[in-house]
Amino acid sequence: MTSPPRSDPSPGSTASLRTANQHRVLDVLRGVPTPWAAEASSGRRGDADDDGVFTQAELARATGLAPATVSSIVRELAGAGLVDTEAGSGRRGSSVQLARGAGIVAGVDFGHSHVAVGVGDLAGRMLADQRIALDTPTGHQEALALAKDLLARMSAGLGELRHVGLGLPAPVNEEVIRSSAIFPGWEGVNARAVAEETFAAPVHVENDANLGALAEHRHGVGRGRSSSVFVKISSGVGAGIIIGNELFHGAGGTAGEIGHLTLDEQGPLCRCGSRGCLEAYTSTANVLAMLAGQLPDASLDDVVAAAHEGNVSAQRALEDAGLHLGWGLASIVNLLNPELVVVGGDMARAGELLLESARIGLRRHALDSVALTPVLASELGERASLVGAVLLAAERTELAVD
Ligand SMILES: [Zn+2]
Repeated sequence: MTSPPRSDPSPGSTASLRTANQHRVLDVLRGVPTPWAAEASSGRRGDADDDGVFTQAELARATGLAPATVSSIVRELAGAGLVDTEAGSGRRGSSVQLARGAGIVAGVDFGHSHVAVGVGDLAGRMLADQRIALDTPTGHQEALALAKDLLARMSAGLGELRHVGLGLPAPVNEEVIRSSAIFPGWEGVNARAVAEETFAAPVHVENDANLGALAEHRHGVGRGRSSSVFVKISSGVGAGIIIGNELFHGAGGTAGEIGHLTLDEQGPLCRCGSRGCLEAYTSTANVLAMLAGQLPDASLDDVVAAAHEGNVSAQRALEDAGLHLGWGLASIVNLLNPELVVVGGDMARAGELLLESARIGLRRHALDSVALTPVLASELGERASLVGAVLLAAERTELAVD
């Protein structure tokens, strides 16, 4: 993920060096992956139990700056109210962390049947989150109003809202949702513009699978791996791709639309207008439709429970979804050779019932060299996209010392 350009003083000046060093320290405190931090603090980077509290000695190691420089920068940052320090004992010196009073960020994740809102600190750590299930498809005004209401209640008294990360289950191209078939209620809407009006803060819009990929890469099962593919399988199927520790967006921002890989051009019609897409075999809607005769009105959880109890139709439907998923994954791993594939979204609740047959499908269709690429369940579960939205908002928040 690239940060927006910073309005630093002219390069090479003393002021510009000081600002650059301040940002080094702030980025380490915020857990933003940086070239110097990756080398200097591997082992600390991405720890699940990382509490964001550093000693000055750790900051010096992680930034590659001299201890005296770190000490003076920490004084400046504390003076600007951006960090809190606590006197320590012994050689390790005082501890430093981002100041709570420096503000908060929010993540908002809209789905076909849910609205989720998270509040995070400027390091992107979740402070609180909430999710509301929606029974009926919701227009964008109603969904935004719900999110605004939730956010207002969750963030009361926590400080100034700096930035918002917004996840949508649609290709995010120029921030306008192009098709009502993909995300009903949002067609033709400039998501960033309407969300900025709603939340009165800068908003960054991102595809929900990309956010899931970012979250699993930073805080989930993809921790410590520089390349991974996150496949989100819910009512739609999409993927987020991490290459070299960064999200890969493609030329127009819509990379990762794995759901519309053609598996059989004579196959079932897909909502995209093509036939035999991966999504038309693997999405929750299609698995439920396949079982409409045997398990009428069943939810996905009913189907998973029935499969565990030995219902052969439910088992077969999940296995078939998994085999097709593996077939699609074979194309992806042949092409990208990621270190692992993470499966998330609602369908991940089927667990090994889905994943074991996905691995079989992958082995059947992938080249030998990549056929054993691990296919693992998401660690963050249904919260993955929301965790990613909070991380995105924190990364995009520019902290100015002056
Ligand atoms: Zn399709």
